[in-house]
Amino acid sequence: MSVNQEIKPITTEINEKGHLCIGGCDLVELAEKYDTPLYIYDEDTIRSMCQEYKKAFAKYEKSNFMFASKAFMTKALCAILKEEGFGLDTVSGGEMYTAYSAGFDMSHVLLNGNNKSIDELEMALDYNIGRYSVDNFLELALLDNLAKSKNKIVDIFLRITPGIECHTHEYIQTGHLDSKFGFDLTQLDEAIDLIKEQYTNLNLVGLHAHIGSQIFETQVYYDEVGVILKEIRRIKEVHNIDLKEINLGGGLGITYTEADVPPSVETIADVIIRSIEVHCKEYNLEYPAIYLEPGRSIVGTSGVTIYTIGSSKQVPKGRRYVAVDGGMADNPRPSMYQAKYTAVIANKANEESNEEVTIAGRYCESGDILIRDIKLPHPEEGDILCVFNTGAYGYSMSSNYNRTLRPAAVLVKNAQSDIIIKRETYEDLVSDDEIPQRLSSKIMIEN
Ligand SMILES: *Cc1c(COP(=O)(O)O)cnc(C)c1O
Repeated sequence: MSVNQEIKPITTEINEKGHLCIGGCDLVELAEKYDTPLYIYDEDTIRSMCQEYKKAFAKYEKSNFMFASKAFMTKALCAILKEEGFGLDTVSGGEMYTAYSAGFDMSHVLLNGNNKSIDELEMALDYNIGRYSVDNFLELALLDNLAKSKNKIVDIFLRITPGIECHTHEYIQTGHLDSKFGFDLTQLDEAIDLIKEQYTNLNLVGLHAHIGSQIFETQVYYDEVGVILKEIRRIKEVHNIDLKEINLGGGLGITYTEADVPPSVETIADVIIRSIEVHCKEYNLEYPAIYLEPGRSIVGTSGVTIYTIGSSKQVPKGRRYVAVDGGMADNPRPSMYQAKYTAVIANKANEESNEEVTIAGRYCESGDILIRDIKLPHPEEGDILCVFNTGAYGYSMSSNYNRTLRPAAVLVKNAQSDIIIKRETYEDLVSDDEIPQRLSSKIMIEN
């Protein structure tokens, strides 16, 4: 089985105390040592997924893997990805800065985004990143202008909206025509004319598309490759330009609950490679280099979040709500996308799940429900709840809502645990606050 078809990290086991262990570490002990909520990342699961991608595409020589950092970005992950031979897809100054400060090879970094700022483009140029995926006409002008001022010629993809609908949540669909991302196919000729005639510091190397996220279908990837190669053929005829690279984006789904059945990486690879073979033959093109930007499928399954169970409430003739010490601030996906998760009680891993409860977060919103109607072994105050598949878009979407502290993250491997993100402190929380002079005298007196 592919890692993305598993619900739990690949090293998950139950020890002699009946506790859940990941990466050889007892989750109850991790809760004691690091406090909760806590993000836990299993290094073996991350590496194993990177290796699956490399193996699945091994027969296609020109494959490049650019981890979509928006799924989870931290210096330790950069170090792992570097070792695995992955590049990075970034979408902000902050993500580029993280990569840079981790000593990542910036020539393996790509910058995406529908409204990159001048500062971000300048930063990218100064870091000499490897690729830009240019999203719109304003960005073409800005990037060319900045590149000229720095005397640099940069390699770009043009991001297109391929007009492919996939059956995922509306907020995470991006490839359909009415999307804020990329050039409509009808605008490509104008963009290419501008690059040829005016934007001489932009070197167009290929086309980029990203059709969505948490995708379970394979046909959409087949179609995406077809649409891109057809355009490349047309561009060759109309503009006499040979585009040698295609960037297919990310999107492969993972298994949050048993209801999710994503294809394996190998299946996706076979579909993509077959579509390239078929369409290159049809359009008489050489095989292009491919870029892939997997995010969720690389880190999703590797991460779990542990919480401590606190209060509970039995609604008369209704649900039993069990509250944990985290919720929508460390994982906004359930309240934002109605995302579903599975969980177990880490200290009752061998007990029968015979009680149906709803896991509520601690935040002041009725919508802060982490999991609705899940069966668990009788949950009690002090139990450690482990929610699976929180490795992607959890920490990266977290906030300080209700002025709570962002949890720590630890990396586990071979029974060792290391902090990769420190828990925030109350001092961190107020460290950027300023009281204007005219108010500060007042607050002093009242205190
Ligand atoms: C979000 C995004 C990705 C990653 O998507 P996943 O579903 O996490 O694999 C890749 N490329 C682009 C352009 C994106 O916007």
